[in-house]
Amino acid sequence: MSQPMVLNTVADLRRQLARWRARRETVALVPTMGALHAGHISLGTIAKSRADHVVYTIFVNPTQFAPNEDFSAYPRTFADDCAKIAELGAEAVFAPTPAVMYPEGFATTISLTGPATAGLEDRFRPTHFAGVATVVAKLLIQAMPDLAVFGEKDFQQLAVIRQLTRDLDLPITIAGGPTLREADGLAMSSRNVYLSSEERATAPLLQRVLSEAAAAIQAGEDAEHVLNYGRERIAQGGFALDYLEWRDAKSLGLASRNKASRLLVAARIGKTRLIDNVGVAAGV
Ligand code: AMP
Repeated sequence: MSQPMVLNTVADLRRQLARWRARRETVALVPTMGALHAGHISLGTIAKSRADHVVYTIFVNPTQFAPNEDFSAYPRTFADDCAKIAELGAEAVFAPTPAVMYPEGFATTISLTGPATAGLEDRFRPTHFAGVATVVAKLLIQAMPDLAVFGEKDFQQLAVIRQLTRDLDLPITIAGGPTLREADGLAMSSRNVYLSSEERATAPLLQRVLSEAAAAIQAGEDAEHVLNYGRERIAQGGFALDYLEWRDAKSLGLASRNKASRLLVAARIGKTRLIDNVGVAAGV
């Protein structure tokens, strides 16, 4: 497998994309923070099936981490990441430095209301989505791909990105990819490497509670009762629960049974914060 070309500056990225565009070939972007796992690669597979060329971006974005979060500890595995990208057959990696993304004097922040203030992640990470929105808007504008692929694993983030793409009139299709899971149901995440073996054994509880709660709501049980029972189970399982909520899948506002909806959870175990979500079918 040939190694992907590594592009470190916006000019290099744009030059490469211009070459492809001149041949009327399409480009899909897969933005990541690296430490790639099979979930990230599944997004690249979607990208490959829908565009002529796939570009991964790898950038651990400092502005989406609060000062008390894990920016310095976040796993960085660039050589392994490139090997996985090569195996997939994606051609390029855009890996800017913080100085490329935020040069001296950088002064612009993109902040949203709507899905970014739905009272989920934003309640616990109040500066997070401004960091995400700003960096994703920059990456989309830098590359101007035909398509960009993001994971449903970060469901609120995906809604924020769809919103900003619409609001800023970016002519880019946003695609969502399903969450890839370990055999025991735990959603794959770069942060799973933080888990001790005991915590790792407990972690799949989140997915079990989500899928059982989704089934109970679909079976017509009282949603508040189902949520409270799920919250108790998560707390009793050894997590510090941030939230377990049932929301409309599009707006992230209050859910109703006749529209597609989503159950979303965030909980901490030891030093690690995990998030997950599952769909609840409409018309139940
Ligand atoms: P991250 O590197 O964690 O910022 O994630 C980069 C992209 O991969 C985001 O669009 C995530 O939603 C997506 N992603 C993360 N984990 C998974 C997973 N388990 N399955 C599918 N996509 C994922």
